[in-house]
Amino acid sequence: MSSVTESHDLVIIGAGAAGLAAAAGAYDAGVRDIVVLERESGAGGILKQCIHNGFGLHRYREELTGPEYALREMQAVAQRDIPVFFDTTVIDLTADRVVVTVSPERGVVSIAAGAVILAMGSRERTRGMLGIAGTRPAGIYTAGAAQNLINLHGIVPGKEIVMLGSGDIGLIVARRLAYEGSHIKMVLNRSHFSGGLKRNIVQCLDDYGIPLRLSHTITAVHGRERVTGVEVSEVDPKTKQPIAGTEELVSCDTLLLSVGLIPENELTREAGIRIDAKSNGASVDETLETEMPGVFSAGNVLHIHDLVDFVSEEGERAGKAAAAYLAGEKSHTDSYVSVQPGQGVSYVVPQRVHADADGLVTFRFRGRDIYRSAQIRFFADGEEIKTIKRRIILPAEMETVKVDAGLFARAKTLEISLSAEEVGATQQTGDDELTCIQCPMGCALKVTLDGEGKVVDVEGATCPRGKTYAKAEIEAPERVLTSLVDVAARELPLSVRTDGSIPKGLIPQALEELRGITIDGAVRTGEVVCSDVCGTGVDVIATKDVL
Ligand SMILES: Cc1cc2nc3c(=O)[nH]c(=O)nc-3n(C[C@H](O)[C@H](O)[C@H](O)COP(=O)(O)OP(=O)(O)OC[C@H]3O[C@@H](n4cnc5c(N)ncnc54)[C@H](O)[C@@H]3O)c2cc1C
Ligand code: SF4
Repeated sequence: MSSVTESHDLVIIGAGAAGLAAAAGAYDAGVRDIVVLERESGAGGILKQCIHNGFGLHRYREELTGPEYALREMQAVAQRDIPVFFDTTVIDLTADRVVVTVSPERGVVSIAAGAVILAMGSRERTRGMLGIAGTRPAGIYTAGAAQNLINLHGIVPGKEIVMLGSGDIGLIVARRLAYEGSHIKMVLNRSHFSGGLKRNIVQCLDDYGIPLRLSHTITAVHGRERVTGVEVSEVDPKTKQPIAGTEELVSCDTLLLSVGLIPENELTREAGIRIDAKSNGASVDETLETEMPGVFSAGNVLHIHDLVDFVSEEGERAGKAAAAYLAGEKSHTDSYVSVQPGQGVSYVVPQRVHADADGLVTFRFRGRDIYRSAQIRFFADGEEIKTIKRRIILPAEMETVKVDAGLFARAKTLEISLSAEEVGATQQTGDDELTCIQCPMGCALKVTLDGEGKVVDVEGATCPRGKTYAKAEIEAPERVLTSLVDVAARELPLSVRTDGSIPKGLIPQALEELRGITIDGAVRTGEVVCSDVCGTGVDVIATKDVL
């Protein structure tokens, strides 16, 4: 292995949504000497394996799949001629911004960087972090690992499955496994609310009759070679401990864990950059600069985001801030307002704001519980300076607020806390209820039908959209279908989606039709691979290129 040294104005670590947007953002702000370093052989990060739809509604005003969203971001980088070095792992970052990389092609290369953007994403919590008792058999996967196996390799990890944790990854993987014929026996969640979005609970669990058991956990794993079952126990909502005597043995061959993501900050820590114990990401100021000058952070490595659109927006902001740093535009004082999460808030980014910052400062945070009729309250040195109302705050959704820096500029501390008329409501709805998923409020709708199954009355909707939703969902429910088709020339499948919604009841039939398709030859993203699926008039299109 040879070791060479080179230098670049801006080095971006990671070519996921954050890194790609950071590169384009920095370029548009005038930086020309940029390199993006990516340890995998393709760009897009986690988006590559997220073949479901639900990406890009804010950024592109379209509902895209993960690979389609990633393609747009890669095209933006390619149009600007920004080089992305694949199979290149960053193994060290020094205090004077030397980025040490290793790749099969170039060996060890040390790059002196004018500025660095950390965009390394996140990884999943594993069984070892949960301390579940029992044996150590095969058949235990994180939900993301299972998603990777199914969506990128066409391998189904198990047939009889129990899932611990109801984060979005888990919910989406549960649906994928149901499409592939696996039986998801139940999804368990230790707390009284789901870590996933309501939309995903409805469309991934309720649609397939998969029970969600809140305030339940796994207390033991059984099986010698392979998992044979798990012990499920109820959890006391107050002490958060399993309740003795509630143990139940559930047989299964696979246990999936969807118990959260952790920012991937080994490099950051080793570089001596301060990590915020609450967000598990670097401590940053309002420009997303860490406590190491010229090193910025964005995306899931900074804090876990709910939607990719916000990851991209944050990446762009980091790119622009790095450009300003490189241009020597930084003219702030070294004194800061320290930002702290108060009651009900688990973390806040940024953790500090320059005392002489001006204009609107973007704060992002998560609530610890479900808050209805909530108030986001801002205290500067203990004095309340601003209140923002929200109809609902959910732990599964990241909150973004913008506050005029002038309001707290002279303070030493700024605290953000939550209060609400109702805290800790459960997310479960009764059997006779329908949950509106058109906005985060998640109104519980009581629907009255006539003798022919038509909706005649809807109670509980806070706005007129609830009634329209209930009518469509009960009388003619529709879904976009995302799945895979075989490709003749290679072992790996191709991801596809319907180019519009199809009746929900036709999904099993549509999946059967897709199982009969084998792609022969090249296909580009957006090309039709099956027209008029099940006679619905809707086509199925490729969401990735096969060249
Ligand atoms: C299963 C799942 C479902 C989701 N569903 C939705 C959805 O429906 N809608 C939505 O809007 N959002 C969704 N999200 C959220 C969104 O996709 C992510 O928040 C976003 O893609 C994260 O982007 P990122 O760039 O921060 O991280 P990543 O995508 O993780 O990218 C980080 C990149 O850095 C690289 N890297 C890490 N360390 C190094 C190193 N040392 N050297 C070189 N490269 C390195 C990694 O290989 C990776 O490519 C979902 C997320 C997941 C996990
Ligand atoms: S009824 Fe209106 S307020 Fe309630 S969840 Fe639906 S869209 Fe939101």
